[in-house]
Formats: sequence, structure tokens, C-alpha cells
Amino acid sequence: MAQPTYVIVGASLAGAKAAEALRGHGFDGRVVLLGDEAESPYERPPLSKGYLMGNQEREKVFVHPAHWYADHEVELRLGTLVTGIDRDRKTVTTAGGERLGYDKLLLATGASPRRLSVPGADLDGVLYLRDLEDCERIREAFQRSSRVVLVGGGWIGLEVAAAASEAGVATTVVEAAQQPLGRVLGPQIAPVFADLHREHGVDLRLGAQAVEITGEKGKASGVRLADGSLIGADVVVVGIGADPNTDLAVDAGLRVADGVFVDAALATSEPDICAVGDVASALHPLLGKHIRVEHWANALHQPDVAAQTMLGKQARYDRIPYFFTDQYDLGMEYAGHTGPGEYDEVVVRGDLAGREFIAFWLADGRVLAGMNVNVWDVNDTIQQLIRSGHPVDRGALADPNLPLDQLTTE
Ligand code: NAP
Repeated sequence: MAQPTYVIVGASLAGAKAAEALRGHGFDGRVVLLGDEAESPYERPPLSKGYLMGNQEREKVFVHPAHWYADHEVELRLGTLVTGIDRDRKTVTTAGGERLGYDKLLLATGASPRRLSVPGADLDGVLYLRDLEDCERIREAFQRSSRVVLVGGGWIGLEVAAAASEAGVATTVVEAAQQPLGRVLGPQIAPVFADLHREHGVDLRLGAQAVEITGEKGKASGVRLADGSLIGADVVVVGIGADPNTDLAVDAGLRVADGVFVDAALATSEPDICAVGDVASALHPLLGKHIRVEHWANALHQPDVAAQTMLGKQARYDRIPYFFTDQYDLGMEYAGHTGPGEYDEVVVRGDLAGREFIAFWLADGRVLAGMNVNVWDVNDTIQQLIRSGHPVDRGALADPNLPLDQLTTE
């Protein structure tokens, strides 16, 4: 009997981890990993942190050394864009016109940066950060620029602002909301990041709308705001969010709603097709709803569950969402999932002004999310607090003299 073929579309962290997990769980059929980029699968956090700043070597960003794929009989096919899925014939088609059969298919197609749609947005010097090539373009631009404007004060905007500012480039962040990260962290905690950047000389323009990228000789020269002011720039980096790459799934008739809809086992509405990473909107058993998480830890861990599902094993993905950032001398980890209107209280343990604290987002006395800033070895405990779902004593939560792990056992 012919060996079964498992095809993975998307050769990024999630795709590479899925190939690894399939082999790890003993699958000895054919594994084909298709990616449209020219580079072997790599991790993205260094692209807005260490590698962007020149502190990390290029070879360290790759998920596996180049020989790993051949060593594990994973057919890594780079520069291969998948253009269609035929669910009846169980084939995928590539831009080169090849048709490849699959027994099981995994979609790890990721997300793409949202484009700025204002006059001048297509000028040279308007850059986005998603892939390794983008990162290298921005790195190179920092070396010959004296002024950078970041449009968007989210994770890309702030991490790139930190890198630019540390590289000695005059840095301005244009953010539509009243606070950078305001939607994620809320009005009590978001100012920590605003203050941090201001202290490092970053000019924050908040509640500001970029309405035009001005240019000279086809090259970006500034960003005009809705109030008429003009900020001069040699380079403009846009980080205004990302959209999941769902076209293949939509065309194939899979259920899609802000991402490819998958159950807790990460299977789509078609049992032979799974989805993971930025593109997957997964039912989270603990939260009881579908969430789509565009963070590294999700792309790292979901593939193991999807691989088990593809192999017919029982598995479900119920990890607490997790992400981290490093900006200047601030390091933080965040666990949980909450947003505006979902929590009723924020409790702080430690020194908020000194940027050494843990913040907890609570609803009805239960911890929904927690963020440790320059405090270490506590995130697992924060996750236990979230997972337990038990009400916690606010006073105890706020008291740095009471060990956090005592609260998880109460
Ligand atoms: P993001 O974190 O969603 O932030 C986008 C920011 O841009 C938001 O603050 C948004 O404000 C603002 N914005 C939207 N339209 C704007 C406009 N026209 N002018 C000015 N500001 C505007 O997205 P991102 O920074 O582009 O990052 C892309 C994805 O990569 C995200 O999912 C992010 O989580 C992920 N990422 C994660 C990390 C990490 O985990 N450390 C690092 C880098 C990237 P509103 O919120 O008010 O819409």
C-alpha cells in the first residue's frame, strides 16, 4: 500500500513544528512542507527584537538547521505558492501548476500585514515587518536614516520603535488610539509602555491619524497627520495589525470567520484538514469560545495537537495564550485572554512606576490574564491562577510579600 502523504501548507514556525511533531509521534509516511518564501522556516520574535537590533546572528532565527528536513525525510519545498485545494480529489495545486495529493492537510498559512491606504503609501521607504526580508530591509534602512516614523503603536510599532531608538534614529510613533497598546492593556497599564518610550526619547503622537505619506523623488519624506502637522521621515514603518491568510480555506469552502474555524482538536469543518497558528480561529476549551491568537507561543505549541489529530489520536489545545516582549530594559510576559469590556478590575502587585510589577485583569474576582514586567519565574503560577478559575483575594493578589503560588492552592 502506498505511504500516506501529509501536506503542510506554510513553512513558517507552525509548519516546521507540525512536521517535527508528525515525526515525533511516529508518522513514517510522506511529509511535504510547502512554503512560498525562499528561506527555511524561521521564528519571528527576533525580527522585531534581537535580529532587528543586530544582537542575534542570522542562523539563530531558523527553526531547524537546513539539514534537519532531509534528516527527517521532510520534503521542504520552498518558493512554492499553493494556489488551491480540491477537497473532493484531495489535492493541492501550486502556482507552478503542480497537483499534489494528500491524505491529510494542515493549513499554517499565517497572516499578512494590514496595508495602510492613504495617498503616498506605495512610495519607496514605506516598509512593513512580517518576514525575514522585511526585517533586513528595515535594519538596513536604520543605518542610513536619521528619522523614522512608525504608523501604529501595537507590538510591531513599539518593538521597532525601541530598536530604532537604540540604533540612534530619531523615532516617532503615530497611534490612532489614546494610548499605545490601549486596547490590549487598558488605560491603567498601557501608560507604562508610553512612559518607557518617552523616557527613551520617542515622540508619541497619540489619537493621531496618518492621512498621507509625503514624498520626494518617489521616496517617502514624511507623514502628514489629520490635524495638518507633518512629521519628517527617511523611512516609515507601518504596523497596523494583520489579517489571517484565509483565501485558500475560503475558496475550498471551509468554514471561515476571522480565521479558519477549527475545533479544540484543531480540525476544520473538513476532518482531513487541520489549521494552526495565526490563521486558525480555534475553540478554546477553557474559554468556551473561538479565539485567534497571533503570537509565537501559539504557532509553537498548536502544531503538536494538530499532528496528533491528523494521526487519529485524541488531543485538544487548551494552553493559556502567552506572549512576551522586550523593549529597552523592560522584559514582560503576558498570559491569558481578555479585552475591553471583559474585565472589571486591574490589580497591581509591585512597583508600577518602577516598572517591576505583575498586573492582573479580573472579572468577578477571577483572574483572566496576568502580565509580569521585569519580574521573573511567575508566569507559570499566573497561568495556574487563570486555569483554576477560582476567585482570589484582591488584597493577597496585590501583596508582594505573599507568595503567588500560595494563592493558587487556596
Ligand atoms: P497590533 O499589535 O494589532 O497593533 C496595531 C496598532 O495599530 C493598534 O494599536 C491599532 O490601534 C493601531 N492602528 C490601526 N490602524 C491605525 C492607523 N491607521 N494609524 C495609526 N494606528 C493604527 O498589530 P501589529 O503591531 O501590526 O502586529 C501584527 C501582529 O503581530 C499582531 O497580531 C501582534 O500581536 C503580532 N506581534 C506580536 C509581537 C509579540 O508578541 N511581542 C511582536 C510583534 C508582532 P487599535 O488597537 O485602536 O486598532
